[in-house]
Amino acid sequence: MQKMYLSPRQNMLEKIMPSNFENIRPYFDLDKIKFSTDEKTFQRAVGIYESRKIKEFHKVFKGFSAKVAGTTIYDVFVSMKDFNYADCNCYLGQKDYLCKHVVAVAIWAVMDGKKLSKEDKKQHNNLSFSGLVGEIDPNKIAELKKKITEASRYIKTYNGPSKIWFQYQNSLEEGCNRLSALFSQLPASKSSAKLVLDTLLKLDRKLSHGGVDDSNGTVGEFISSCVELLIDFRKADPSSAIAFKALKNTETCFGWEKPLIT
Ligand SMILES: [Zn+2]
Repeated sequence: MQKMYLSPRQNMLEKIMPSNFENIRPYFDLDKIKFSTDEKTFQRAVGIYESRKIKEFHKVFKGFSAKVAGTTIYDVFVSMKDFNYADCNCYLGQKDYLCKHVVAVAIWAVMDGKKLSKEDKKQHNNLSFSGLVGEIDPNKIAELKKKITEASRYIKTYNGPSKIWFQYQNSLEEGCNRLSALFSQLPASKSSAKLVLDTLLKLDRKLSHGGVDDSNGTVGEFISSCVELLIDFRKADPSSAIAFKALKNTETCFGWEKPLIT
């Protein structure tokens, strides 16, 4: 989380022109929040949101401010552009961690106090096999490829200064979470195996030559879970293993291909 302070001029603007901020809208949506927070923080934030602990929510200059009731009352500010740019005076917030209060206020900015459905509250950040078997409808493949490309963009080259390191690691996590949600819907089949494998080979290239700095091991761990998914595909539909031929004569960055070619 990056701290964001209102300058005295911004504070003054907030006081004299509150009505000017009615058009303030978040650039993020609920999916963005769900894909970029861990389960514990997200569920706690949902708890805060649902128990109406968010008081005095206001649209202010470039963002949202609120008071959140907890052990004490916390003052929270969340930027309209990115909820990672925020400020909260709780213990974690002061250490620049993304805290549950900030996430709860971000949820309010998106939901406007409306009830969250069961699906709204469910994250899809863990990769698991859908248990389905069957080829993907050819019309859907192009759409899926587009979504995979979009999700993969979060797994980008690192060339920033150390102060945006956390943000960069969050971006890698968000990319892997978005890909996990997509892959968890796939049925075991040749077409699914090809989609997953093509993505893994692209990620592998990014890791070995593309300047992705995976020091936290997020992408590596994701690749390993995908290999397990491919093994599940092979068990459920042995013909899907034909896609693994793409690995012939390929040496990957940490030998993840081995369980698929033996
Ligand atoms: Zn906080």
